[in-house]
Amino acid sequence: MDDRLPLPTPDALWAFFLDVDGTLGDIAPTPSAVVIADHVPDTLTRLAALSGGAVALVSGRTITEVDRLFAPLHLPVAGLHGLERRNAADRISRPVTNPAPLESTRHALQDFASAHPGTLVEDKGISIALHFRGAAGAEKEAEGLVTALLARHGAALELQRGKMVLELRPRGADKGTAIRAFMAEPPFAGRIPVFVGDDVTDEAGFATINDLDGISIRVGDGTDTCARYVGASVAAIHRWLDDAARTLAGHAQGTKETGHE
Ligand SMILES: [Mg+2]
Repeated sequence: MDDRLPLPTPDALWAFFLDVDGTLGDIAPTPSAVVIADHVPDTLTRLAALSGGAVALVSGRTITEVDRLFAPLHLPVAGLHGLERRNAADRISRPVTNPAPLESTRHALQDFASAHPGTLVEDKGISIALHFRGAAGAEKEAEGLVTALLARHGAALELQRGKMVLELRPRGADKGTAIRAFMAEPPFAGRIPVFVGDDVTDEAGFATINDLDGISIRVGDGTDTCARYVGASVAAIHRWLDDAARTLAGHAQGTKETGHE
């Protein structure tokens, strides 16, 4: 692969930021088909308990969708690549509040999907994604449409590329700004931020993490990324998080037995 380091040993001062699709759950043909393995919410619950609650999910999905996937677990979440955020005090904020420019692109994307079987529009309200995983041949035409829409609305909108998906969204927030906002607040502030993601949409998060001297981990082959560590697969990340929870639990137990803080 490359000369990047093996995944690091956990520290009790870490704050965990975790992407969802492709990181905690394997990518499926459509977003609604993604499932999170039963043991994952349990691992995250243990990690949260061992890190003072410093575990947040950072996804391109809406907060509502993330909650559905992890129910009944209720964690701090950044949704829509940072366009919405629910902090540890359960307060929801939306740093970019004007979705109006999106309205005029909605019909164009829906018309495209109707004319190209296998493509799918995922309307997230504040942003709209065009998926072509089911119609890889439509990629070039989808690019053409999105380029034309951006030429018309590029001052207000930007393109977020993902795996077999093009997403139009208002400018002004990304996963990096969301992580920075979490890190300014308890229980994250003062901790070492760790972010695990798998996609180009996560690169803004990796850049922020590197800037904060944190630990950036990309799932996959580790090419074209500014992440400093690479995890081979979703399963490898599951094992690493589970090991982290066991290690931190061992530390906590040791602290209790020796009476030292
Ligand atoms: Mg992902």
